[in-house]
Amino acid sequence: MHFLEGRIVDTCVYEHEAWFQEAVAKKFLVYKAGIIDGQCQRCRNTNLSFFYTFHCAVCEDVCTYCRKCIRLGRVSSCTQLVTWNGPPYTRAIAHHYNFHGQLTAAQQHAAEQIIDSLEQKRGHLLHAVCGAGKTEILFQPIVAALKKGLRVCVATPRTDVVLELFPRFQQAFSQTSIQALYGGATVEPIFAQLIIATTHQLLRFEDAFDVMIVDEADAFPYTYDDMLQQAVHKAKTPDAPILFVTATPTKPLLKQMKKEQWGYSFLPRRYHGYALPVPTMRALRRAAKQIRSGKIPSKLKGWIEERLAQQQPFLLFVPTVELVKQLVPLLQQLDEQIDGVYAEDEARKEKVLALRAQQLKGLVTTTILERGITITNVQVAVICADDAIFDAGALIQISGRVGRHQAYPTGDIVLFYDAITLAMDEAIREIKRLNEVRV
Ligand SMILES: [Zn+2]
Ligand SMILES: [Zn+2]
Repeated sequence: MHFLEGRIVDTCVYEHEAWFQEAVAKKFLVYKAGIIDGQCQRCRNTNLSFFYTFHCAVCEDVCTYCRKCIRLGRVSSCTQLVTWNGPPYTRAIAHHYNFHGQLTAAQQHAAEQIIDSLEQKRGHLLHAVCGAGKTEILFQPIVAALKKGLRVCVATPRTDVVLELFPRFQQAFSQTSIQALYGGATVEPIFAQLIIATTHQLLRFEDAFDVMIVDEADAFPYTYDDMLQQAVHKAKTPDAPILFVTATPTKPLLKQMKKEQWGYSFLPRRYHGYALPVPTMRALRRAAKQIRSGKIPSKLKGWIEERLAQQQPFLLFVPTVELVKQLVPLLQQLDEQIDGVYAEDEARKEKVLALRAQQLKGLVTTTILERGITITNVQVAVICADDAIFDAGALIQISGRVGRHQAYPTGDIVLFYDAITLAMDEAIREIKRLNEVRV
């Protein structure tokens, strides 16, 4: 029943479970209506335009529900939400730390700076280029917090990042109760001291975490969605510090850091010491139109045939789901072991694993795989790189997929374009600048 600690849940989801009934019998729960005084009690939305009034079959009356957090199930005025008011779960202070890799001096220094900030309950920004090994940097600060009996959350806007991080944390902290939360995840009803979650899932929490880590803080949709930013604050205890982690901090984030005097760690080098791959630009006229008419543009075809001949796995970024669907059958004529992924694809997890296991030779993808993904020796191309969806941050992240492994520290990153954009220029300039920073 301690599953409920720190959560805010809809009674009707769990009321038939024995552990829930036990919590009810022991009077460990506080009840409240889903919407009170024009505020959704789950996502705290007060914007009237997100409330919808309807004739409700549950309460057989006129009822209002919140559309803002509808993705997590409907909260309406007749919904009964509960929070935990029982004794706190006895948190483990013995945690097995199972990481045998060696941190570089820069990684170790950053880890110590972060531990220091968290101890002082001060915000911190870890600004580490793609491939700097930021997950390894987080291990020591997390284990230090866990050993104090604190509850820790690593939140990220991207499901794919949760899927990538979860097994690595399970390996590093093999005795710790860890949960991965994302849309569609199977969740065991237990208390977890370490939670890896999408920022959306944080809407289900309140006052829960003593340390909050926001990974890929600049990723869509977090930066554009007040609700998700609020969710991070709501899910943590009022004085819990936030550690932001990103390779491409936005200007508002840097500004906030200065204003609130956070700690700052900057790692401009990859852990293996090689430079970041600089994209090459290749003009490719009307790529989308050619693909739509059933033809693989010849420059792209040449690039893919080279990857197949050299037996290099590849990622092909395209701006839309439609293009993924149009391009995949064409490429499968070149090789059947090429597939595609996009956000709504139920097999996306399996397909990424298949690429990593070399059961697939290449994946066509939308920007969902722009960050968090590590595939040894992967080669990358972007089609329609001048599309507005590829901002400078996205292009830097995409380029950052290449050359991450010590044994394959370089690789190909090509931007196929119709017309050069400011974002392309900016991304290339920033990558070159980072490569020149002296450490
Ligand atoms: Zn809501
Ligand atoms: Zn109702």
